[in-house]
Amino acid sequence: MCDTLVALGNSTEDGSVIFGKNSDRSPNEAQVLRYFPRMEHPEGDVIRCTYIDVPQVPETYEVVLSSPYWIWGAEMGVNEYGVAVGNEAVWSKEPYRKTGLLGMDLLRLSLERADSARKALQVIVDLIERYGQGGSANKDFELLYHNSFIIADTREAWVLETADRFWVAEKVRDVRSISNGYTIRDRWDMASPGLVEHAIDMGWCDSRKDFDFARCYGDPQMDAITMCSERFARSMELLRENKGSINVEFMMGFLRDHGGGEWDPWSQTKATICMHAGPSVVSNTAGSYVGHLAPHGQVHWFASSSSPCLSLYIPVYVGGVGVPEELGRGNGVFSADSPWWIHEKMARTVHMKGYNQLVSLLKPELERLQKKFVEDAYKARERSLSLPADERRRVLREVTESCFKAAYERYKEWSEKASRVEVAGKPPEKYCEYWSLQSDAAKLDV
Ligand SMILES: [Zn+2]
Repeated sequence: MCDTLVALGNSTEDGSVIFGKNSDRSPNEAQVLRYFPRMEHPEGDVIRCTYIDVPQVPETYEVVLSSPYWIWGAEMGVNEYGVAVGNEAVWSKEPYRKTGLLGMDLLRLSLERADSARKALQVIVDLIERYGQGGSANKDFELLYHNSFIIADTREAWVLETADRFWVAEKVRDVRSISNGYTIRDRWDMASPGLVEHAIDMGWCDSRKDFDFARCYGDPQMDAITMCSERFARSMELLRENKGSINVEFMMGFLRDHGGGEWDPWSQTKATICMHAGPSVVSNTAGSYVGHLAPHGQVHWFASSSSPCLSLYIPVYVGGVGVPEELGRGNGVFSADSPWWIHEKMARTVHMKGYNQLVSLLKPELERLQKKFVEDAYKARERSLSLPADERRRVLREVTESCFKAAYERYKEWSEKASRVEVAGKPPEKYCEYWSLQSDAAKLDV
């Protein structure tokens, strides 16, 4: 499960587009950050995606991708042109295919091939129509779904919702979010040929007048299971309430949201935007991204870890700057050299000891450090604008590296602190059982 949000320039503090996504996955699936430079490819080259091969293009663009470790594609990412894409699992009445392109593969292909949001949309729909979407999105059991996307660039954004080979797209006017259900109803800007006619043929509606994409194509049972309506309503509420003043730190706050009011992972019954798995919530936020798509100096904020509320977003830049190689390490089992698992050990210790008590101890430092990262990242951006290319890359890479090191040193300290501190109360038995099973499977001792 996931949530993706965007605010256009008419709704943000500085007039630039701001994009955000939480990727919610199985609790033991490390999500890694990958960097690929701009590349040229020989004629006739074929690219092996997660399940199928597709012909390569002569040139692919520089991309930064947040990917479940075993998947070719990505849950979210950005390219050198400031095109940012996030996908969502959605369930329709159309058939699912056991093989094909995953939504995450489509996402990566679009970033590698498009220099604008509009072109990225076209890449995705062309690939869907040509190869079909399909294949399991889960490593341990078969999980088939269709996909929706928010596709943004430095000027505009699109919502694209697909049901097998059918699709519909809406140009974002100001603020918009998507979750794990369809949101486009009877108004759209582009659609696949035969979209309405197919719904009429299937008996889902009587005429164009009666057509509602979400109602006709959506699977209402899955909407209830994924609890997507509440999350969609909450993300739209946060965006609308803050319209006009949205900046990068607001977007980070939206992605750290637990619905407002009292919240405790031990007693939660519903999934929230910052998603914490447990006996009643199957997915866990595994990675988070805020894209500041400013036309003259983008800054991309990645928290390559679970629980954004316990994570620091690290600044990443495009233009040949790259990302720390360590962030690419991690799989389905604990490893002390994987940053994702280092953070995970801390996060699980906090959850088992008592989230609310521990967060009150750690939060002041987390907030102070995040503020410092933001200040350092934008100072470096300003300084770099007048520098020659090589020097620019060096200055920006230094900020990424120093924030990365500071964050992971802190996670290790917090892990120690959380394991030492005495806290009253114990998690409910079902909660303990759930996380013991998970941690045993990952060979993680917490
Ligand atoms: Zn949280």
